[in-house]
Amino acid sequence: MRRLLLKNLVHGPLTEAAPAPDEAAMAELAARVEQTARRRLGRTLAIREVDAGSCNGCELEIHALGNVLYDLERFGLRFVASPRHADVLLVTGPVTRNMREALERTYQATPDPKWVVAAGTCARGSGVFAGSPACVEGGVAAVVPVDLYIPGCPPPPLELLKGLLALLESVSLS
Ligand code: SF4
Repeated sequence: MRRLLLKNLVHGPLTEAAPAPDEAAMAELAARVEQTARRRLGRTLAIREVDAGSCNGCELEIHALGNVLYDLERFGLRFVASPRHADVLLVTGPVTRNMREALERTYQATPDPKWVVAAGTCARGSGVFAGSPACVEGGVAAVVPVDLYIPGCPPPPLELLKGLLALLESVSLS
């Protein structure tokens, strides 16, 4: 053990440093999301995250949007606890059979207009859980209507923001 500690002190960690976030790009994108939401909805965007059986990798990236590094609440991007307060359901995971009803009920509890964003490869019905008897075949779209897919395993924060912006720019409010 002592030898291992000494070796680590001399050689340093073998892991690679995490890539630095592009803070300027994040801030610009988040500001655009806020402006577009205010223009189209008349207020900022409220998101209810639904984990429909993910491995939690997607959640780590989604949580990053609110951490001290990105702090996107300063741009009005809010994660809400109740679907009754949400504009967007951000769904991750392949939709396990046990989560199917919870996802349906969450969708029904969300007031109109509402949009569903399926984030991550699993949510599309493919990925590492595809074909599992524990999962619904076809992913999120087999349970609730999906307005936008954000690809990636997992999708990083920048891609999540790009997806939300694309959603706001494309949805019909009529
Ligand atoms: S897309 Fe990847 S990171 Fe996200 S839940 Fe599936 S396996 Fe995990």
